[in-house]
Amino acid sequence: MPKRFESTNPHTGDLIETLAPMTAAALEQALAAAADQAPAWAKQGISERCDLLRAVAKLLRERKSALARLMTLEMGKLIAEAEAEVEKCALVCDYYADNAESQLADTSVASDASRSLIAYQPLGVLMAIMPWNFPFWQVFRCAAPALAAGNTLVLKHASNVPRCALTMEALFRDAGAPPDVFQTLLIDAKTAEGVVADARIRGVSLTGSETAGRRVASIAGEHLKKTVLELGGSDAFVVLEDADLELAVSTAVKARFMNAGQSCIAAKRFILVETIADGFVDAFKAAIAALNPGDPLEETTTLAPLARKDLREILHAQVEASLGAGAALVTGGQALDGPGWHYAATLLDKVAPGMPAYADELFGPVASVIRAKNADAALEIANDSRFGLGGSVWTADKARGEGFARQMACGCAFVNGMVKSDPRLPFGGIKDSGYGRELGTPGIHEFVNAKTLWIG
Ligand code: NDP
Repeated sequence: MPKRFESTNPHTGDLIETLAPMTAAALEQALAAAADQAPAWAKQGISERCDLLRAVAKLLRERKSALARLMTLEMGKLIAEAEAEVEKCALVCDYYADNAESQLADTSVASDASRSLIAYQPLGVLMAIMPWNFPFWQVFRCAAPALAAGNTLVLKHASNVPRCALTMEALFRDAGAPPDVFQTLLIDAKTAEGVVADARIRGVSLTGSETAGRRVASIAGEHLKKTVLELGGSDAFVVLEDADLELAVSTAVKARFMNAGQSCIAAKRFILVETIADGFVDAFKAAIAALNPGDPLEETTTLAPLARKDLREILHAQVEASLGAGAALVTGGQALDGPGWHYAATLLDKVAPGMPAYADELFGPVASVIRAKNADAALEIANDSRFGLGGSVWTADKARGEGFARQMACGCAFVNGMVKSDPRLPFGGIKDSGYGRELGTPGIHEFVNAKTLWIG
């Protein structure tokens, strides 16, 4: 019996709504409809498909307050961050509306033919398996290029954000999307595995844990279908001796504690060269102490609760295990009293190999400091991770920073800036952070048939 979906307020722990999963018949109908609609959607002119994205962007902006409130109530993010997330979703729709046509234009290639070229054609029905941490953004950054390219999409969203998932389906409908071009499937993970295997699904994009990524990719592989995986990360934030410490510390707070630390590209390992480490830690501690946990609907709150109780338990166990293995607790280190899933902003110093804070992803408001002898040692530590999503380096010397960033083993490296996604730039990881790219031109090319046409 598939489980029911509970929408719970992470700030209070109160149940907002319980939703029934789709029946097997409704799921079959949804998949059949997505497949039926795919050829017609593929045949639509690209300018009509882009018009839909523009209409969606307009609705997102019109409904920003209500959508942001929905996100805050269902997964707990700060209301200002939720509003910014809605804006960013509109931006990615506009970006692909403006650029998809040129990104998908035929590419001529000289060969032995009188004319030869690459034509980019849609694959059919895609499946998006998405997490709760950015409940709108994760979906839109996948949906905008997928739909612009002429694919149809079914969404299996995380079980704790069913109301966001249904609201997005309604948004596309209200914006004038043809029926079944974008559908939400209210199904659990087990049922989703069956959908991944379904012959009508031609590609799968998953953002989430390594465990889910490995499982979904293995099923998709067995059925010979393409996947893009955006999994966890343990991004390094490397501070060299010549860095602007004030800027580095203020950015560190944002990079680690935004969204209560629940971001794949949050800075997680703060790798500090010895000469500036004590000063950085003192300033970082003071800035963390100024964070204000509380109701994420209140504009004065600056630290949100975690999205689920089990996630808080996992995080706390990682902190305890790291302390048990010799890490030093500078501040925090415990769940906050009261209802909901709040966790204290935490700073761990003297983090070393063998600790969860060094080796694993800590998906919450916990910053880990690792001290390095010099820049070379810092680079070695930064790359001593099974993850490879993002990373940043802080130095007054931009050329030195670029040289360092080029050597970082990750999918995106920033010099004197916080790692962030941008619709214009490709986004994704290497190693256990996954493969494939979202956003930018590579993002729209992931789920198309790059077809060779040879004309004699
Ligand atoms: P999951 O990976 O379990 O969930 C992400 C999505 O995958 C959800 O929609 C989930 O559905 C679905 N899913 C999980 N297992 C399967 C499966 N076998 N087949 C099909 N779909 C599946 O992440 P959690 O929410 O449990 O978070 C655990 C950890 O994952 C976090 O602590 C963090 O480390 C990492 N994570 C990384 C994210 C990122 O942005 N890269 C985002 C979220 C989490 P359902 O909710 O129904 O289980």
